[in-house]
Amino acid sequence: MKNIAILGSTGSIGLQTLEVIRNNRDEFSVCALTANSNIDILYKQVLEFKPDIVVIFDYNKYKEFKSLIASHNNDLKVLYGEDGLTYAASYEKADIVVSAIVGIAGLKPTYSAIEKGKTVALANKETLVTAGRIITKKARECSASIIPVDSEHSAIFQCIGRDREFVSKIILTASGGPFRKKTLEELKMVSLSDALKHPSWSMGKKVTIDSSTLMNKGLEVIEARWLFDMAGESIQVYVHPESIIHSMVEFVDGAILAQLGVPDMKIPIKHSLTYPKRTIAVDSKLDFSKINTLNFEKPDTHRFPCLKLAYEALKDGDSSCIVLNGANEVAVNLFLQGKIQFMEIYSIVAKALEKHTLSEVNTLEEIFYIDNWSRNIAMELYKKR
Ligand code: NAD
Ligand code: MG
Repeated sequence: MKNIAILGSTGSIGLQTLEVIRNNRDEFSVCALTANSNIDILYKQVLEFKPDIVVIFDYNKYKEFKSLIASHNNDLKVLYGEDGLTYAASYEKADIVVSAIVGIAGLKPTYSAIEKGKTVALANKETLVTAGRIITKKARECSASIIPVDSEHSAIFQCIGRDREFVSKIILTASGGPFRKKTLEELKMVSLSDALKHPSWSMGKKVTIDSSTLMNKGLEVIEARWLFDMAGESIQVYVHPESIIHSMVEFVDGAILAQLGVPDMKIPIKHSLTYPKRTIAVDSKLDFSKINTLNFEKPDTHRFPCLKLAYEALKDGDSSCIVLNGANEVAVNLFLQGKIQFMEIYSIVAKALEKHTLSEVNTLEEIFYIDNWSRNIAMELYKKR
C-alpha cells in the first residue's frame, strides 16, 4: 500500500490522480490533500479519501473550511499557507508526493518534498523551468526520485529506461494546439474561448493557454533539459497533431524509441504512481485499426515565437528561464482576464527578457527575487502598452 500526498488535488491533474486512486484502493491511500481555495471540491475529497492532513493556501478559505469540517472529523489536521504546504509536502507518511500545483507556487513545496528524499510524481513543470539546476542537485544529494507526470517527459523517461548514456537526442512531440493552422494575422484576433479549446487534452486553464501559444512546449524543452540532463540543442520539437506518440528518444546507434497511447493523462499518472511496476490495467486502449496516418511537422516559430523564446532563454542561462516563466504567468493571467490579446502574451514575455540582465542563481531566494522582478516588469509593460 502506497501513501500518496497530492499538492493541488482540486486541479485537473489532482482530480485525475484521485480518480486513479479511487479505482485502485487496494494499492493506494491518500495521506494529504492541498488546494488553493476551492474548498467545496476539497471538502468532498476529504470525506471520500480521509487524509490525515488537508491544506488550504488561502487563509479566509481555510477558516471557512475549518468550520465546515468541524462536526465531521476531529483527527484531521487542517493547515494553511506556505507552511501548511511545506508540512504536507514533507509529511513523513507520504511515499509519493504528487506535485500538481500550477505555476511557480509549486516550487517551494516540491523542494520540501525533495529535501525529505521523497519520490515526487512531478506534474508542475514550472518547478524545473525556474529551479531545474537546484532541484536536480538537491534530489541527488537527498536521494529523492523525480518521476515525470507530464506526458512527454513520462514518455521519454519510459523510452530511456536504463540507457541514458546512449541517448543522442530527445524528440518532444506537440499537438500544435488549437491554432496550428491559423495565419499570423488570424492569431492576432483569436478569442479566449477559442484558446481554451484544446484539440486533444482537457487541462487547467494556464497550461491550456500555454499549449495554444506553444510556450508549453518551450517550458517542456527546459523541463527535459533538467530531467534528462540534455543540452538544449539535443532536444527537438515536432508537431504531431494526432497526439498518439507522446515523445521519442534517439540513441547513438540510430534506433529511435517512442511511447504511444491514447491522449489520457491517467496513463502517465498511473505510471508515476506504480513505477517501477505497471500494476494498473488500462481503461482506454489505442486502436490501430482506427489510425490511418501519423503526421509530423516542424513547429513554425514565426507564428508561435514563444517556443523560440524558451530555447533562447535556456541558452542564455537560468535567470532568463525564471523571467520567461514569471512574465509568462503574468501575461497568461492578463489574457485569461480578457485584458490583452493573444499575441501580446509573446510581446510581454519577449520585452521582459530584453530588459533582464543575466544573473547568477544559487538559491530559492534568488529565484523568487528574479521571479518577482519579472512579474513587476510584465505588469509595467502591460500598463504602458
Ligand atoms: P489546475 O489549474 O487545474 O490546478 C492547479 C491546482 O493548484 C489546484 O488544485 C489549485 O487549487 C492549486 N493551486 C493553484 N495556485 C495555488 C497556490 N498559489 N498555492 C497553492 N495551490 C495552488 O492545473 P493543472 O492543469 O492540474 O496543472 C497542474 C500542473 O501540472 C501545471 O504545472 C501544469 O503545467 C502541469 N501539467 C498539467 C497537465 C494537465 O493535463 N492538466 C498536463 C501536463 C502537465
Ligand atoms: Mg505536456
